[in-house]
Amino acid sequence: MDLQTAKTKIHELRNLLNQYGYEYYVLDQPSVPDAEYDRLMQDLIALEEQFPELMSADSPTVRVGGAVLDMFEKVEHRLPMLSLANAFNEQDLRDFDRRIRQAVGDNFSYVCELKIDGLAVSLRYEEGVFVQGSTRGDGTIGEDITANLKTIKSVPLRLKEPVSIEVRGEAYMPKRSFEALNAARQERGEELFANPRNAAAGSLRQLDPKIAASRRLDIFLYGIGNPEAIDADSHSKGLDFLDRLGFKTNKERRKCPTIDEVIEYINGWVEKRPHLPYEIDGIVIKVDSLAQQEELGTTAKSPRWAIAFKFPAEEVVTTLLNIELNVGRTGVVTPTAILEPVKVAGTTVQRASLHNEDLIREKDIKIGDKVVVKKAGDIIPEVVNVLADKRTGEEVDFQMPTHCPECSSELVRLNGEVALRCINPKCPAQIREGLIHFVSRDAMNIDGLGEKVISQLFFEKLIHDVADIYQLTREQLLDLERMGEKSASNLLAAIEASKDNSLEKLLFGLGIRHVGAKAAKTLAIQFGSMNNLAAATKEELIAINEIGEKMADSIVSFFEQEEAKELIEELMACGVNMEYKGPKPLSAEESDSVFAGKTIVLTGKLEVLTRNEAKERIEALGGKVAGSVSKKTHLVIAGKDAGSKLAKAQELGVQVWDEERLLEEFNK
Ligand SMILES: [Zn+2]
Repeated sequence: MDLQTAKTKIHELRNLLNQYGYEYYVLDQPSVPDAEYDRLMQDLIALEEQFPELMSADSPTVRVGGAVLDMFEKVEHRLPMLSLANAFNEQDLRDFDRRIRQAVGDNFSYVCELKIDGLAVSLRYEEGVFVQGSTRGDGTIGEDITANLKTIKSVPLRLKEPVSIEVRGEAYMPKRSFEALNAARQERGEELFANPRNAAAGSLRQLDPKIAASRRLDIFLYGIGNPEAIDADSHSKGLDFLDRLGFKTNKERRKCPTIDEVIEYINGWVEKRPHLPYEIDGIVIKVDSLAQQEELGTTAKSPRWAIAFKFPAEEVVTTLLNIELNVGRTGVVTPTAILEPVKVAGTTVQRASLHNEDLIREKDIKIGDKVVVKKAGDIIPEVVNVLADKRTGEEVDFQMPTHCPECSSELVRLNGEVALRCINPKCPAQIREGLIHFVSRDAMNIDGLGEKVISQLFFEKLIHDVADIYQLTREQLLDLERMGEKSASNLLAAIEASKDNSLEKLLFGLGIRHVGAKAAKTLAIQFGSMNNLAAATKEELIAINEIGEKMADSIVSFFEQEEAKELIEELMACGVNMEYKGPKPLSAEESDSVFAGKTIVLTGKLEVLTRNEAKERIEALGGKVAGSVSKKTHLVIAGKDAGSKLAKAQELGVQVWDEERLLEEFNK
């Protein structure tokens, strides 16, 4: 390829990747499958490696993380990043409102926004290009974390208009990323992050941007450091402007003309807060008009026109009754605090993981202690600290055992791990946990076969391995505690139905180390059957995009075990399906469907199919589903109440189908 061709190709790829990234990470409306995005990214990386002179700082390839830094440079903020004064109750809010009224009269409005619990950052753009990102630091001087911020996929590298602007926002770790990160760290025996905020801050302060890239951070932008740079007379219009530039802003914001409406908004979020996919620790209230903001001015520490309402800390005191040991599916032994039942953030808490022995020592936890408990992210109960001054002298030190509490094998600490593990493959606790995993939702999804029933069946020696589940009889089930005729029938039907599951569910259920639900799906699509996968070599596995060396090794050694071979034979003999049954993605050339190679937009409410089903089927037939209508759109599927996208399609003369027509095509 010559330089000129490469230049054109690179330009095309960057535009596509920027567009797809924006749709996926900012609008949350992906128009192409992840695999397509990954493929284009690989192509771009390869081209940039071949033609290093064409590399550019705003190329989407910087998202994978660049060179490791020695240290973070200091950055002076052009305008200080002030912190906000706090309100803790309704009275504080009414006092704030009174002060505003005294200064500017009654004619004004508030804007309320969720206060994201992350790390405050500032992003600087020169003529639309992201040039520098920094932490808040002390408000005047922060640290240059540009390389790490570039790995956050919702941070635009180039704006939709060539403006020079400094924007402020909160980088955060979504709850799901946080849970997955901690689960992986637990599995590897590494120290856990206390909450998503610490995890986000820890990730952004890594000198190796590849670590930040792996942490799945996100960002919401909520302010402009140089408001004079834009044409807006209010905070809310400024946020709308950020939307238009391609930034991700939080859509839950609301204009509230009175303090009563502000309070109503806050009370609503106290309840809805646990259901958000990210953590918030309060509500920010600002006077909307920029002219009035200026009139109100700032104190040395904080603006007078804004206040942060902080949700009450949901911490309660209870007694730590005992410390139990749990042996997980991978043999990690986890100490768990058994608590005097207590209500925290709406639910009763009686257990909290203590993670590992080091943490117990660090927090100086003894059995019988009065402890402060809270829910991290309002989900996971956690022992915050011990009230040492409430001790009576009766408290007992906890000793981590040297042997597995379930099978008495000696516990070991694997290389560099904090966690203690039982490595006996016949350990009953691990087998039981493996059974629970096998029937869980993302695995074989057998309804009615929860933890309690599995434990009973296992304890009664009715099942020893996952194949035994398929040999259970009605009589055996009826002998179990609290198992009636109806439940037994339902359970047998659910077990029977699970035999038809597509291969990926079985693969995930087998609990092969490092093979998660997503990898299982990839393997199932690539190999099509258990036999093919079992015969795959390490090289063949690594050749697949999403399969790394560690996973490949683990898969190969799993299928080398005699026990695994026997188990799969047994499952097969019981009639468990060993083939992939889902749609196979066809390339445009392979498909003779009308969708092949076409770009299709779905809009309005579909009645028979869900959006996702329609999308999956179109993609399976070689079509691409995009989020917005443009000249490049070949076809629009318009459901009920289709709005602006349908209008746009008609304006551009793009072909439009209704759902019925779509179904007809699918059924051909
Ligand atoms: Zn054991």
